[in-house]
Amino acid sequence: MQDITGAVVADGQATPAALESGIGELLKTVGLRRVFSSGNSQVTALAGVNLCVTRGEMVAIVGPSGSGKSTLLHLLGALDTPTSGTVYFAGKSLEAISDAELTEFRNRAVGFVWQRHHLLPDFTAVENVAMPLLARGIASREALGAAHGWLEEVGLADRAQHRAGELSGGEQQRVAIARALVTRPLLLLADEPTGDLDEGNAGTIFELIERLHRSHRLTSILATHNLQLARRCNRTLVLERGLLVTGEESLVGRESASTRATGGRATAQEERG
Ligand code: ADP
Ligand code: MG
Repeated sequence: MQDITGAVVADGQATPAALESGIGELLKTVGLRRVFSSGNSQVTALAGVNLCVTRGEMVAIVGPSGSGKSTLLHLLGALDTPTSGTVYFAGKSLEAISDAELTEFRNRAVGFVWQRHHLLPDFTAVENVAMPLLARGIASREALGAAHGWLEEVGLADRAQHRAGELSGGEQQRVAIARALVTRPLLLLADEPTGDLDEGNAGTIFELIERLHRSHRLTSILATHNLQLARRCNRTLVLERGLLVTGEESLVGRESASTRATGGRATAQEERG
């Protein structure tokens, strides 16, 4: 099967040097819209998002609940298809590539971390981390070896043989991060990765993501409610009712609204008054 990275390079839109060196744009969206239909009503989750992320950037996406953060991450990772608009990865439209390439993109170019870790509780930590490699047909000895290496990177080598269900919340999230990176993706997409953790664990997990982002020269996009953590990223984008509004300067003024927001666009609208 053709590697999407190879396909992109072969297409001449990004050179191997550009992909390797951290120069240039890795991800771009143009007019990205996603409308969900339920019954007679339609919900516009994304209303035309234009976004450009440079290789090596760590970008935070903040915004009230229901503003479209998860929808955007799903589209960036090709887990969902836009109603209209386009996602470009290394210059290539995800729409234009074959199903096989798309599968390859999801499985290899992107690593996902979710708010809930989604580990298999009855499998050991190392088996959970090895899972994406086993799914790709890599021999179990090699897959488990790589998984051990990643558990070391996230500081859990001593928990390798523990069942995932026996680990603490913070430890489970570290296993989930190792699992997301075991395939050596270029892009890390994290949807509220610290959302289920207490403040101390949230800080530790964020620092771990920061460290792995740097040491593995990842491009990372994190949706978060935690504005303190968001500020530590290279850039903060604010989503409101499915649209990106300007970043940093508007962030402070929106802080209280954001932290108070509880449920969806109605709340966001009320708060804007
Ligand atoms: P956030 O992650 O910022 O909380 P979401 O992207 O989850 O926001 O949701 C954006 C909007 O789209 C919300 O109004 C939500 O109810 C709606 N939505 C998300 N997914 C679906 C779906 N599968 N079906 C219908 N509506 C959805
Ligand atoms: Mg969400």
